[in-house]
Amino acid sequence: MSARILVVEDEKKVASFIKRGLEEEGFVVELAADGEEGLSLATEKKFDVVLMDLMLPKRDGLEVIREMRQRDILTPVLCLTAKDTVEDIVSGLDSGSDDYLTKPFAFAELLARVRALLRRGSQDRGAELTYADLRLDPVTHKVWRSDKEIDLTAKEYALLEYFMRNAEQVLTRTMIAEHVWDYTFDSFTNIIDVYVNYLRKKIDRDYDVKLIHTVRGVGYVLRKGD
Ligand code: CA
Repeated sequence: MSARILVVEDEKKVASFIKRGLEEEGFVVELAADGEEGLSLATEKKFDVVLMDLMLPKRDGLEVIREMRQRDILTPVLCLTAKDTVEDIVSGLDSGSDDYLTKPFAFAELLARVRALLRRGSQDRGAELTYADLRLDPVTHKVWRSDKEIDLTAKEYALLEYFMRNAEQVLTRTMIAEHVWDYTFDSFTNIIDVYVNYLRKKIDRDYDVKLIHTVRGVGYVLRKGD
């Protein structure tokens, strides 16, 4: 069956360019021209990926993504944005989006990101993972440490899942970028440090035994003790 994609974009030319291109690749595409319409379509129908412009009439893209996640709609979201500062990207990823692309973009790149999100969506299920007193459920995306549930954003969750699937292995920033974001950030590798710090605050700060360790000059490792 063809994957269904919702495109939330208020610029008509951009929207129809994306729609036509995706349809040529065999995807089924629906368009929404503002945030409100996007949110109601994402809520009422089932999509495999949502492409979300951030600057939208009625409700902005980040607000729509946050609201989707609150309603437990876990459809992967790729943000399309003209903003390209690290802060804007981090707040986009933090609101529960899975990836972002800055405008103007090459259609081939958009397609590659959409395919990566579709692949990840279909691999998302599986048995519970445990490491030390950490527990992670890949089906519900719930995480516990010492039986206390820990609330993570979509990106923090993806990062922790990658750490847990590769426990006690040193992971370089490049490896993390490629596996958790599906590509290399180049100049944005400090995003990884920002996210590892967010994750540490939630996973390690209140516990005596720290699990996420920095390997100087290399990257990070999940392990018990130094
Ligand atoms: Ca716009």
